[in-house]
Amino acid sequence: MTPDVIVVGAGPAGAATAILLAEQGLRVVALDRARFPRPRICGEYLSPEAPRLLDRLGVLKAVDAAATPLGGMRITAPDGTRLTGAYRPVGAYRPYREHALAIPRAALDALLVERARALGVDVREETRVTDVAVEGARVTGVEAVDRDRRALSLRAPLVVAADGRASVVAGRLGLRRPHRLRRMALVTYVEGLDDGAGLGEIFVDPPDYSILNPVAPGRANLSLVVPLAHAAPWSARLEAFFAARVRQLPHLARRLAGATRVAPVQALGPLAYTVAPPRHGGVLLVGDAAGFYDPFTGEGIFTALRSAELAAEAARRALERGDCSREALAGFGRARHAAFAGKARLTGALLGLR
Ligand SMILES: Cc1cc2nc3c(=O)[nH]c(=O)nc-3n(C[C@H](O)[C@H](O)[C@H](O)COP(=O)(O)OP(=O)(O)OC[C@H]3O[C@@H](n4cnc5c(N)ncnc54)[C@H](O)[C@@H]3O)c2cc1C
Repeated sequence: MTPDVIVVGAGPAGAATAILLAEQGLRVVALDRARFPRPRICGEYLSPEAPRLLDRLGVLKAVDAAATPLGGMRITAPDGTRLTGAYRPVGAYRPYREHALAIPRAALDALLVERARALGVDVREETRVTDVAVEGARVTGVEAVDRDRRALSLRAPLVVAADGRASVVAGRLGLRRPHRLRRMALVTYVEGLDDGAGLGEIFVDPPDYSILNPVAPGRANLSLVVPLAHAAPWSARLEAFFAARVRQLPHLARRLAGATRVAPVQALGPLAYTVAPPRHGGVLLVGDAAGFYDPFTGEGIFTALRSAELAAEAARRALERGDCSREALAGFGRARHAAFAGKARLTGALLGLR
């Protein structure tokens, strides 16, 4: 049976797109090279708007059971000044929840995949997409290898690329571009921290910043973002680089006194890249597959879920009309730009980098 949509990647962007398409009665195949639950390098913070989308996707109750609520964010400036912001209504703005959430990605992503499967999505784990099929001006499907190393050729009127930062789809279509911002993230976990009063914590000390996110009682996700050039010579000795760098950030070092690092340091970089709009029809790019700038605002998952919502709407309209040409799908790019361009400019301004 030919599916209506092939979703490549079942992280938050792909699983959410698959869920929303399945709810519309469409036949969806979702392929992921991983087996869930799987970890993902991430600060594991969900902004107060993300629960609106998780509610719509039918997983909020399960997410709440696995997550830690965060009443606000405490920012420590280079001179030690501390500013604590609570998630409260501001003027006409009402957040969906008056708290953010911290949740291990292994748990969050598995819940979304489980939900997609429960709605009839044909989720195929350990299935790696290796190439994109193109006929003329249209993407017509994908080539993949399944868990038994069998080659698969799948065809559908629409392919949704949700395969993250190393997107095979964006790569094969020649859309990915490097960004001049060259930064790297180092991520680990610490235990034994003093009580953080139910807050996330950011330590800004240019050119670095660090985020502490309490994902479970007594356990926090610790991310450190540094210039790539500073970390690169240490690529074989990241643990030593990480320990020395933390000592250089006095407010973070003081906060971590008495805490123990309980997981290896994982590194990811360069963080930023851009992805051009597709020149072909038959394809939509969502989540990190469509580009990534910086994890500072902790909105990557929200962006992935919101772009999934916009993509599912564009897909529904195009499939209903039987027209998945580039022109018919172009409204998605415009809607995405309208939804995120303002925030992207703000992040750039905050980091003083755009
Ligand atoms: C250091 C760091 C910290 C971050 N912290 C936060 C944070 O605290 N809060 C937040 O909201 N965001 C954060 N982000 C951003 C967030 O992690 C991403 O924006 C989010 O994961 C995007 O979701 P996605 O579904 O697009 O991609 P992913 O989560 O990367 O999912 C992509 C999926 O595609 C699959 N895949 C990849 N290639 C293939 C292939 N060839 N074939 C089949 N499957 C494939 C992968 O296995 C994966 O499951 C952070 C990012 C970084 C780098």
